[in-house]
Amino acid sequence: MDKYEILRKYFGYDSFRQGQERLIDHILEGRDVLGIMPTGSGKSLCFQVPAFMMKGITLVISPLISLMKDQVSALNQAGLHAAFLNSSLTTSQYYKALSYASQGRYPIIYVAPERLLTDSFLNFALQAEIAMVAVDEAHCISQWGQDFRPSYLKITEFIGLLPRRPVVSAFTATATSQVREDIIRILGLRDPDIVTTGYDRPNLYLEVQTPKDKYAALKNCIDSHPGQCGIVYCLTRKLVEEVCQRLNQDGLSATRYHAGLSDQERQHNQDDFIYDRARIMVATNAFGMGIDKSNVRYVVHYNMPKNLESYFQEIGRAGRDGEPADCLLLYSGQDVVTNQFFIEHNQENEAMDAQTRAVVMERDQERLRKMTFYCFTHDCLRDYILRYFGEYGSNYCGKCANCLTQFEEADVTEAAAALIRCVGTSRQRYGTNVIIDTVRGANTAKIRNYRMDENPCYGTLSRVPVYRLRQIMNHLVLTGYLTVTNDAYAIVKLTEKSREVTEEGCQVMMKMAREPEKEKTKKKKTADADRAVDNALFERLRALRLQIAREQQVPPYIVFSDKTLAHMCVIRPETKEEMLSVSGVGEFKYEKYGEQFLDCVRTWLKKQEKMENEPE
Ligand code: ADP
Ligand code: MG
Ligand code: ZN
Repeated sequence: MDKYEILRKYFGYDSFRQGQERLIDHILEGRDVLGIMPTGSGKSLCFQVPAFMMKGITLVISPLISLMKDQVSALNQAGLHAAFLNSSLTTSQYYKALSYASQGRYPIIYVAPERLLTDSFLNFALQAEIAMVAVDEAHCISQWGQDFRPSYLKITEFIGLLPRRPVVSAFTATATSQVREDIIRILGLRDPDIVTTGYDRPNLYLEVQTPKDKYAALKNCIDSHPGQCGIVYCLTRKLVEEVCQRLNQDGLSATRYHAGLSDQERQHNQDDFIYDRARIMVATNAFGMGIDKSNVRYVVHYNMPKNLESYFQEIGRAGRDGEPADCLLLYSGQDVVTNQFFIEHNQENEAMDAQTRAVVMERDQERLRKMTFYCFTHDCLRDYILRYFGEYGSNYCGKCANCLTQFEEADVTEAAAALIRCVGTSRQRYGTNVIIDTVRGANTAKIRNYRMDENPCYGTLSRVPVYRLRQIMNHLVLTGYLTVTNDAYAIVKLTEKSREVTEEGCQVMMKMAREPEKEKTKKKKTADADRAVDNALFERLRALRLQIAREQQVPPYIVFSDKTLAHMCVIRPETKEEMLSVSGVGEFKYEKYGEQFLDCVRTWLKKQEKMENEPE
């Protein structure tokens, strides 16, 4: 069978995505490859398709048990024989799988790196014909990566022991050159073909909000995705608990995940989310590695994460099926302070010598600054991210909140001068909140305690709304008219540039959102959402999928992805042929579920017809 047949018949897709074909071809020619492609772009297919075409066995090295389980069950569902060997198997299961493997039953076997050098596995591998070693999440081999795993270093030794060197392919979503060089060097890739595909994920809608009430903003987002799955990321365990509890109290199906829970509960909650038993996952950044769930329709960051690498990785879990998904970041000034605290108290850095620690801290602070700028930029958000990763976008994507908002240049000189004067007259001792509360004339205990109500600037900007004052304050920091100390207190200080503002003829201009336009984009979005929800056929197909998934004890998206169901709603197949033309429906899956889904569509169409013919 050729690669196109495999793609169609087993995976049910019509065409390869960017980069896939080239990687597959080179692997088949016997060349080493390195695929650097963003999360959700389809890296697995690049080693799975050749695995079923090459003579011999493909070993896939993967860091997480959940990842292996998911991919192996997806392959078996598609009618392709695959197995995994890791610590989740009992001893007898393990030996049984090994003996099947020796008989050549599985063209593709997933192995945990810790297994590679064990006697039992080596015994098998030295006898077998190993055609390829595919290293998934290859950045785990680099100490510069975010998730260094020492056990990955065993891969190189293992390959060296094999009587015939197999093709070695490596895949990662991490693009920095340091990590890339490490992968090539440590794995010993030979003249690899390096394929890097774009970092853009055009189906993700990006937005940043600075709401007064974060919970209300979150609730709003959830309400615009009724019945759909989403992830809510919080910076701290405590906040995870709080938010999850509130959502549950509001009658929403939410579960939680953080490092403070027992292994058992984490596994249980993660499964609830994967199997669509819980719609919302509230979690710290501990959650998500190895989650292949394709129907996550929104990712809300309840706090700003520590850097854009983390942010990009976390929003990457939305919309893996290629259908639209929303990524909303809820910013507040406190997030900067919390992240700053984490940077200063990073226990991982404790083993380092003072000099290294200083360098690492400096680097982390710089990353935090760039992340913070993301929350304040009025330019295209997608472009900002792409540039950060060294790609050049078009400056305008038309699909992020900033591109959809109209801005106007506003003269904020007067407010700027008052804020700067307030910092000066209070002798540069306070953070942004005290300064803002002073100029707006807030009558709080704190202000009275600090005697800021006696400050000459007290109440001078009482007519400007607070959120505007915050925007202006941030603008002044971003443009260097003011600065904020790099510690937990975040004290506002004057700079050399501060004085310019009081000089004759100085004008501080700033982009501000035109309010009514913003309303319009919001409405447009809800209309879109309504249309999606309206889709009664989709709901029926989804219910059928859930029923089948429960019977088979697999996650629903393993049966068919959301994208496949959506495509079914467009095609409305009534025959086998039409059903096979749906993206994601291969012959094998058709044999298994095709008729059931056809019946569902037919029944629905009949009902529609009847309704249309009935007199009003
Ligand atoms: P990655 O490992 O790069 O994060 P995956 O391999 O998990 O991504 O693939 C993400 C999703 O894209 C999966 O649901 C997969 O079935 C789908 N996919 C992969 N290749 C194609 C293709 N050529 N056409 C349509 N969907 C694809
Ligand atoms: Mg992957
Ligand atoms: Zn944009």
